[in-house]
Parts: sequence; structure tokens; C-alpha cells
Amino acid sequence: MRANHRGIATAVSRCTHQRPIVRASFASGSRWSSSESRQWSTPLAKSLAEAITTTGPVSVAAYMRQCLTSPDGGYYTSRNDDGDQFGKKGDFITSPEISQVFGELVGVWVVAEWIAQGKKSSGVQIMEVGPGRGTLMDDMLRTIRNFKPMADSVEAIYMIEASPSLRDAQKKLLCGDAAMEEIDIGFQSKCKYFENLKIIWCEDIRFISKDATKSPFIIAHEFFDALPIHVFQSVEPTPNTSPILTPTGPIPRPKAPPSSQWRELLISPTPEHSPSSTTPPLLDFQLTLSTAPTPHSQYLPLTSPRYAALAKTPGAIIEISPESLSYAADFATRIGGSTDARSALPSGAALILDYGPSATIPTNSLRGVRAHKPVSPLAAPGKVDISADVDFVALAEAAIKASPGVEVHGPVKQGVWLGAMGIRERAEVLVRKARGKGEGEEGVGRIEGGWKRLVDRGPTGMGRIYKAMAIVPHVAGKDGRRPVGFGGDVGV
Ligand code: SAH
Repeated sequence: MRANHRGIATAVSRCTHQRPIVRASFASGSRWSSSESRQWSTPLAKSLAEAITTTGPVSVAAYMRQCLTSPDGGYYTSRNDDGDQFGKKGDFITSPEISQVFGELVGVWVVAEWIAQGKKSSGVQIMEVGPGRGTLMDDMLRTIRNFKPMADSVEAIYMIEASPSLRDAQKKLLCGDAAMEEIDIGFQSKCKYFENLKIIWCEDIRFISKDATKSPFIIAHEFFDALPIHVFQSVEPTPNTSPILTPTGPIPRPKAPPSSQWRELLISPTPEHSPSSTTPPLLDFQLTLSTAPTPHSQYLPLTSPRYAALAKTPGAIIEISPESLSYAADFATRIGGSTDARSALPSGAALILDYGPSATIPTNSLRGVRAHKPVSPLAAPGKVDISADVDFVALAEAAIKASPGVEVHGPVKQGVWLGAMGIRERAEVLVRKARGKGEGEEGVGRIEGGWKRLVDRGPTGMGRIYKAMAIVPHVAGKDGRRPVGFGGDVGV
């Protein structure tokens, strides 16, 4: 039983701490020094610093994107043989790696939704964005295989993965020795669990064509937290007191009420030495507040009244992830059609599991994790996992705005969702099986420890910090149907 190999008690989840590690500072008049002579913590730090010399400071989103997915040294995209990011030897641990029950219950959720939507006999697509080692998909597929009518309706499995090495690991786990072929949108192989079922890999969900006759079931576990964020701070501009020059002479400027503005936090290399110090800076990069508006600060904070409400609070910091919003909008249009072409029969579902606040806008949540310890997200670019809280309300808004054919349920705490999905009962079955096989108290303890950790609702427990949210079809006349885990019953 694979659960025995999981449940590593000492490994920490990515959301290890809640407090900011990033402090914004105003750009000082530092003098530039050559990046050639300077010692950089990683090759990616050097190339980033050189790029910034040409372009000027970059957004947190641009920095995050490079650190995570640059082909030249990105955290996910440039792994060599030194193992992957997960588990005891990696940097963090995720729920599917802690207990097999997690992926199994995600599978049960998909089957329950498929049943609730009338058991479509064909055209079902299973998609996962950011599938890591492929463990969740493996547990999910083993579960779906047990529901033959649903298994028979599955037409293809899609894995949206930016990392070539993780793609290889997923292929090995889900397809064994079957050949991997290159195709127009990426790669494909044959799933070991089903006869004639293809698994298709691509780097972006937009490569997969949208088809209103299909039923996509999309899973996003710890994917959105890895998507780049822009960070903005509300500032009161210094009032302009200089007189207005007119042909008849200067006249005093009328007093305008000070109106706050959003300014973007930007990343630039730290000055090599501060004037008073001879020691090099600890971090290669620093966060500074832009002194002028940026194209993003003039647009993104105006896209929702939620941001406007905070603009009047000087010092307020908000995080916005446009890539996350376009992924949520993409999920919604696949399920319910678009505002231009509403689907005649919305179908499919998306399940988003991640960490972030239930209702508020994330603030100061950029974090770094390395070898199970919180570190600065500005340290060792490409060697540190960087993530940020997910703005669930923003994802819900983006989905509803993109498609009239969907509704959103949640977010609910992961502990509540897993409880409603029957985690205790499933774990009890596994414990009985383990005892039956004479696996001993250590094995049993691991199963027990694993599922309890996932539902722990203590102040920093995974059951509280992680949330579940679902995007499902909105069908006129069927208002009020609640998906399983969000107030509905398991119809399996
Ligand atoms: N869902 C997995 C892994 C979470 S880690 C689990 O829970 O164990 C984040 C995953 O998203 C990794 O597989 C990483 O390679 C992938 N990823 C990160 N940024 C991505 C992007 N922009 N596009 C596609 N995949 C991305």
C-alpha cells in the first residue's frame, strides 16, 4: 500500500507560515556596479540582474515567472538529477504525497459530479493543471477505474505541466514503459490503467481546443499558488503645491483632495555595498516601490471593486495574479461556454484546492521555501520554491464573468471538504487492510497520521489553511444543487 511510503511527518507543506518575509523599501539612490565582478547566488540571479540592467526594475510577476519556469535555471523547469521538489529530500510536501486518500477522494468527487450531471456516456476529458509527480492523478484514476460506466466515458486525459522533468516522472508513473510521442501541442503516451486511453501533455491549457460537446473535469491542486502575482501598494501622492503658470502670471493651484494611487512593487538587484558597509548584501534582489505608475498599476487594481475599496487605505498592499484569473476564466468557458457562445448544455467541473484566504485579498503572502524551511523569496533564484496565497474570490469572479453557464461553490476549508467526502471512513478501510496484511503499528500509524494531518484544523493546520472551491455548470431550473463536499450528498 503506497500510503505506507507517504506521510512523512517532518516534511512541511508549502504554506508553512503566514507572515510576510518581504518588506518593501523605497528605491534608494544606490550606485550601480558591474554584474560581471559580482558574486551571484545562482546563474539565474546573474542573468536576471543583467536583464534588469537593460529593462529597469521588473514586476514581482516577471521575477516569479523567471524563478519558477525559466528554461535557464527555473525552479520547476531546470531540474537535473538531484531529485525533485517534493518529499523529505525535496523542499516541501503536498497533500497527495502525504496520503493516497487525498487523490482517491478527488476521484470520488469527479465521479459524483459526473453522476449528478446525468452520466454522460462519452466525451469526458480529465485534466490536471500542475500535476507534480502525478501522484494525485494516479490515485484519482485508480478510483475512477472502479466506476466502469464513467471510466468508459473518458476520452482523454490532459496534463498541463511546465516542467520537462516532472512530465517525465508523471509519464513513468501513469504510463509505465509505453512510448512517449511528440505531437503538435506537446507529448502523448498511453495510460496504463485503461485500454486505448491517451494521456496528453502540454505546457498551457490554451493549447487544448475548446469543444462544447465535451465534458472537462479539471483538477488544480497547488497550481494557482505557483502562478505569478503583481503586488500593489496604495500611496498618497505628494500634493503639487507649485503655482500654475498663466500668461498673466502665476496663480495658486486650487487645493485638490488627495486621492490615493496604486503603485507597483518592483524587483531590482540590491546595491552591491551600502555606503556604510563593506559586507556584500545578503540577498541578490530587493523589493522597491515604484515611484511612478506602471502599466499594470494603472490597469489591474481597477478591474474589481474589491480593490477600489482598499485604495483609500494608505499603505494597503494587494496581490493580483492575472494568469490565475485567465486560467479560472478558461476553466469556466470550457464548462459553460462563453458570454458570446453560451453552451447549450454546460457540463464538466473544476475543483481547485489550494491555500489562501476565504474572502479577503491576499496581502504580503509571497513566500519562499527551501529544504522544508521558510526562506526569503528573493534568495537563490531558481533554487527556492516561490508561491503566494490564492485569491479564491478573484478566481470565482473571473469564472462567473467569463461564462454565464457556470456557478461557483466554496471556498470551504480543506478539512471540511475532506470530512464531507468521507476521509475518515476511507482511512478506516485502509487501516483495516493494513492490519489484515499484518503491516504492524508503524504502517497503521502512518495512515492515521497522514489523513489527520490533511484535516487538521488547528491554527496552521492543512485542514484550515487549504481550501476547496468548485466551478460547476449552472443549469436553469436546477438552482440550488450543491456539489458533494460543498453541502451536497455523495450520490455514488
Ligand atoms: N499538484 C501537485 C504539484 C504542485 S507543485 C501536488 O500537489 O503534488 C506545482 C506544479 O505546477 C508543478 O507540477 C509545476 O511544475 C507546475 N507548474 C508551475 N507553474 C506552472 C505553469 N506556469 N504552467 C504549468 N505548470 C506549472
